[in-house]
Amino acid sequence: MSTYKKPKVTVIGSSSMDLVVTSSKRPVAGETVLGESFQAVPGGKGANQAVAAARLGAEVYMIGRVGDDMYGEAILDNFKKNQVNVNYVQPVAEMESGTAHIILAEGDNSIIVVKAANNEVTPAYIDQAAEVIRTSDIVLIQQEIPEETVEHVAEICKESGVSLVLNPAPARKISPQLIEDAAYITPNEHEAQMMFEGEDIGVSLRKYPNKLIVTEGKKGVRYYDGEQEVVVPAFIVEAIDTTGAGDTFNAAFAVALAEGKSIKESISFANLAASISVTKFGAQGGMPFRHEVEDRQ
Ligand code: ATP
Repeated sequence: MSTYKKPKVTVIGSSSMDLVVTSSKRPVAGETVLGESFQAVPGGKGANQAVAAARLGAEVYMIGRVGDDMYGEAILDNFKKNQVNVNYVQPVAEMESGTAHIILAEGDNSIIVVKAANNEVTPAYIDQAAEVIRTSDIVLIQQEIPEETVEHVAEICKESGVSLVLNPAPARKISPQLIEDAAYITPNEHEAQMMFEGEDIGVSLRKYPNKLIVTEGKKGVRYYDGEQEVVVPAFIVEAIDTTGAGDTFNAAFAVALAEGKSIKESISFANLAASISVTKFGAQGGMPFRHEVEDRQ
């Protein structure tokens, strides 16, 4: 019998409902147009990464908040369907769930994000779940929740010796202390430029060996191993929809690290998982299950 124990991965971040409408024309101010289709799909970087990590075989605890509305119930149902523990996803009374209002028209998208309950993922709320954080094999966090919460989580992780993967998305400038406290920081190219104010990425990589991991889409992933810059190539696939590639990458990277794989092995595993995700539509829609990744290894 296998003695394999699932790694415990805690994901701290946003959950939302994406309300997606397609239309042949984008309305101008004051105009009403008829759309073609409408879909409500669960999203938010935190939720996406939690779902991806669970599909990849981790025991996943989500720490986040939803509203006390019908979207909140749907978001919780989706977590449960994907085997994500929701003990720490508590509804906020008299508040809406986070939503993203997405118009797909004329070959482009326009999006309005309403953070709502995600703003209530506060440092005080995190303290209620501090024990889960301290007993995790790894913690994964993004930036769709308040900045002070991310910093607070990083402190808890540092104190308790738990590695934190910080996916700095969406981009913002981050404090030297946060860079210090995080074990791994995983921006895409654009986010890396924002974080380091336009500095050449190769220069930034050298400053943070084995910590700064920059994803560059189909070009692969770069980091500095202390002696040289390493490029871990992406897998060649026919991309259909790259939405959620970054979320799949981060979840897979965290799961692999939690299983004790090296940085390079973990990046390679994450590149493979992310490459599968881009061959299907939707963020969560494309996130692979463990056996799909293993079948291709
Ligand atoms: P997104 O915002 O689209 O979710 P991102 O901008 O955060 O993604 P990327 O660097 O574009 O992040 O992609 C993350 C990872 O996904 C890459 O490191 C790579 O492994 C994989 N990936 C992305 N696009 C492709 C592609 N066209 N073919 C193969 N792999 C891809």
